[in-house]
Amino acid sequence: MSVNRLDLVRSSFEKKALESEPLHKKVSEIFGELVFDRPKMRKYLDADTYSRLLDCVDNGQPLDRKTADSVARGMKEWALEHGVTHVTHWFQPLTEGTAEKHETLIDYDGKGGVIERFDGSSLVQQEPDASSFPNGGIRATFEARGYTAWDPTSPVFIQEDTLCIPTIFVSYTGEALDYKTPLKRSIKAVCDAALPICQLFDPKVHKVYSYLGWEQEYFLVDEALFATRSDLMITGRTLFGHMSSKSQQLDDHYFGAIPSRVAAFMRDLENAAFRLGIPVKTRHNEAAPNQFELAPIYGEANLANDQNQMLMNLIGKIARKHSFVVLLHEKPFAGINGSGKHNNWSLGTDTGVGLLAPGKDARGNLQFIVFLVNVLAAVQKHNALMKASIVSAGNEHRLGGNEAPPAIVSAFLGRTMTEVLRKLLELPSGTPVEIAGKKGKGVGLVEIPEILLDNTDRNRTSPFAFTGNRFEFRAVGSSANCAGALIVLNSAVAEQLLDYKAALDSELAGGKPFNEAVMDTLKPLIASIIDVVCFDGNGYSEEWVVEAARRGLDVNRCVPQLIDAYLSPASVELFSRTGVFSRRELEARNDVKWDTYSKKVHIESMVMTRMAINHIIPAALEYKSHLLGILKDSMKVFGNIGGCEFERGTVVEIEALVEDVRTKVAALQSALAAASAEEDAFAKAMAYSGVASDMLQLRKPIDRLEELVDNRIWPLPKYRELLFIS
Ligand code: ADP
Ligand code: MG
Repeated sequence: MSVNRLDLVRSSFEKKALESEPLHKKVSEIFGELVFDRPKMRKYLDADTYSRLLDCVDNGQPLDRKTADSVARGMKEWALEHGVTHVTHWFQPLTEGTAEKHETLIDYDGKGGVIERFDGSSLVQQEPDASSFPNGGIRATFEARGYTAWDPTSPVFIQEDTLCIPTIFVSYTGEALDYKTPLKRSIKAVCDAALPICQLFDPKVHKVYSYLGWEQEYFLVDEALFATRSDLMITGRTLFGHMSSKSQQLDDHYFGAIPSRVAAFMRDLENAAFRLGIPVKTRHNEAAPNQFELAPIYGEANLANDQNQMLMNLIGKIARKHSFVVLLHEKPFAGINGSGKHNNWSLGTDTGVGLLAPGKDARGNLQFIVFLVNVLAAVQKHNALMKASIVSAGNEHRLGGNEAPPAIVSAFLGRTMTEVLRKLLELPSGTPVEIAGKKGKGVGLVEIPEILLDNTDRNRTSPFAFTGNRFEFRAVGSSANCAGALIVLNSAVAEQLLDYKAALDSELAGGKPFNEAVMDTLKPLIASIIDVVCFDGNGYSEEWVVEAARRGLDVNRCVPQLIDAYLSPASVELFSRTGVFSRRELEARNDVKWDTYSKKVHIESMVMTRMAINHIIPAALEYKSHLLGILKDSMKVFGNIGGCEFERGTVVEIEALVEDVRTKVAALQSALAAASAEEDAFAKAMAYSGVASDMLQLRKPIDRLEELVDNRIWPLPKYRELLFIS
C-alpha cells in the first residue's frame, strides 16, 4: 500500500504545535543536575579523595587506585539516587559520533543474590571488545585490544539510566584511536609553549587554557516527510530536489520569529542541555529556511567539545519527541546555505587574562599582539593543513560555495588591528615601544581603541576571523567533531610559539630591553603575514582565488588531496615536535579519512541510483503514459492531436530525460565499480571524488523531471515541503 505524498504533506501541516515540558524550577536549580561536578564531588567524596581528585584534574597529578575506588564509590551512590542501572565508558572514535557499551551495575553478592557494584578499576579502564572501530590498520583484528581510560578532567554524567564516563580510546600499543587523546595532547602542547612567554609578562601565570565556544547549526524536517526520502534517511542529505521558488533570497528567515513548534522543541532541548551542565546561551533562526543555530557560553576546549558531542546526541532524541528529524549534515539541500559549526577559539591564563584580547595596560597589549601575530603566522605556515582539518565528504559541498568556508584559509583581522600592525611595522627598529591601551598611560605610539570588541566589523566570508577577543574558525562542518580543527590549530600555534620564544630568547640574551626584544622579534613576523594570510576582502570573489594563489596560499579543493596535507614534511614535523601525533598515527588516521570519504560517496551513489530506478523513472513513465492517454483520446475524438501540442512536447522531453537518467545511472555504476576495485586508500578516495562529480550529472535530468511531472504523481517530498513545514 503506498502512501500518497500529498496526504503526508497535509498531515504534517496539521500537526499541532507541540508543547514543551513545563519547567517548574529556575534554570540555575536544574543546571548540572545530571553531572558529577564539583559540588557533587564535595558532597559524595570524603575530603581526602576530593582534594586528590582536584589535584589530578587541575594539576595533572596521577590518581592512585585507592583514590579511584573512593571516587567510584561516591559516584555510585550519587548515580543510584538517580535510578541509574548501567554504566558505560563514553568515547569518541574516528566515526564522528560517540561510542558506548552499557553494562549493568549488578554483580553476584556471594550469598545467592546480586548487588550493585562499581569500583575504581571499572571507572579507570575498560577494554572494549570492539575490533571494528576505524583504526587505519593500527589494530589488526588478531590484536584487537583497545583500551578506554577515564578522563578525569571531563565530568561523568547521566544519560537516561546510564552513568557515562568520558574516556580516551587508545590501542594496545598506545596509539590514539579517537579524537579526545590528540585533543588533550594539543591542549597540553599549546599550554607548554605559551606558558613561558606569558611568564615573561607575568610570573604569576601557571597555566594556559584553550577555550572553545561552538555554534551548532542544524536543519529540522518533519519526520513523516523525512521517512519517505531514503536519501535523507540513509545519507542525511537530499541527493536531488528542484529548488523551491522561494528559498532564502528574501533573507526573511535569519533571526526571524521562531515558529512555535520549533520553539517548543528548543525549550526542551535547552532544558535537557542545562541538566547536563551545557551552558547553552543563544538560539536563533539561521539563513536558510528551517535552519537554526544554538551556541553555549564558551569553556575549556576539552570539556566544551565533550558537551558538543553530548548535544549532538541529545538534539536528535529531543527532536523526535516533537516529530522532527534533525539534519546535522553540512549540505542537506543544494542551492541554499549548508550548516557549519563555528569554532570560537582563544587562549587564556589561569590568572583570568584572555591572550587574544587587548590588555588592560601597555604590557597587556604587547602580550596580546604577541599572541595575535603568532596565531596568524601559524595559520599561514600550516595553511593547507588547516583546511585539511575541516574537510569531509559532507563539508566538501560547502567548500568554495558562497558560504564560509571559501576553499582558502585566510584570516580576517578588521581595520583597527590591521592598522595597529601596520603602524608597528613602520616604527624605526630599536625604538622602545609602548602600546597604550584603553586605560594605558604609555607614550601612545599605538592605540588600541576601547571599541575594538564591537569594531571588528563582521566579515562573513572569512573562514578564520578575529572577533575582538578570539578567532572564529568558521569552516568547521556541522557534523564534525570540533577536535579535528582544534588539534591542528592548537598544535600549529604551539609550534609557532616555540619558535617565537627561541627568537625572543636570543634577542634577550644579547641584553636588549624586554619591549624592544619583543618588538624586534615581532616585526619580521608581521611583515611576513600582513599581506599574505591576512585578507579582509570578499573571500567569495573569483579574483581572490587568483590573488590567494599568487600569495602562496593553498587553493586546492580536492578533498582526498587535502587530507594528504597531514603527511607533508612540515605537518609530520609539527606533530612530532608538539607530541600530538606520531607518524604512524598520522598515516593510520589518513587511511581512516580516505576510507570514510570513499564509503560515504559509495553509499550516496548507491542510494542515488536506486532512487533513480525505483522512484524517479517509474513516476516519469507513469506521467508519460498518462499524457499518451490524453493524446490517444484526442486522436480518437478529433482524429488529430490539435490542442495537445504541449502534452506531446512533454512526452518527448520526458522520454529524452528518462533516457538521459538511464545513461547516467549506467555511467555512475561503472565509475562506482572502478572506484571500489581500487586497493590503495588514497587512490580509491580519488576515484570516489570522480564518482561524486558523476552524481551531480545524474542529478540534473532528475531535477528537470521534477519540474515536469504531475505534482500528484511525484513520489518524493519536494524542497518547498521539506523546507517550509515547521
Ligand atoms: P556570533 O553569532 O555573533 O558569532 P554567538 O553568540 O552565536 O556569536 O557565538 C559566539 C560564541 O563565541 C559563543 O559560544 C561565545 O561564548 C564564544 N566566545 C566568546 N568569547 C570567547 C572567547 N574569548 N574564547 C572562545 N569563545 C568565545
Ligand atoms: Mg559566530
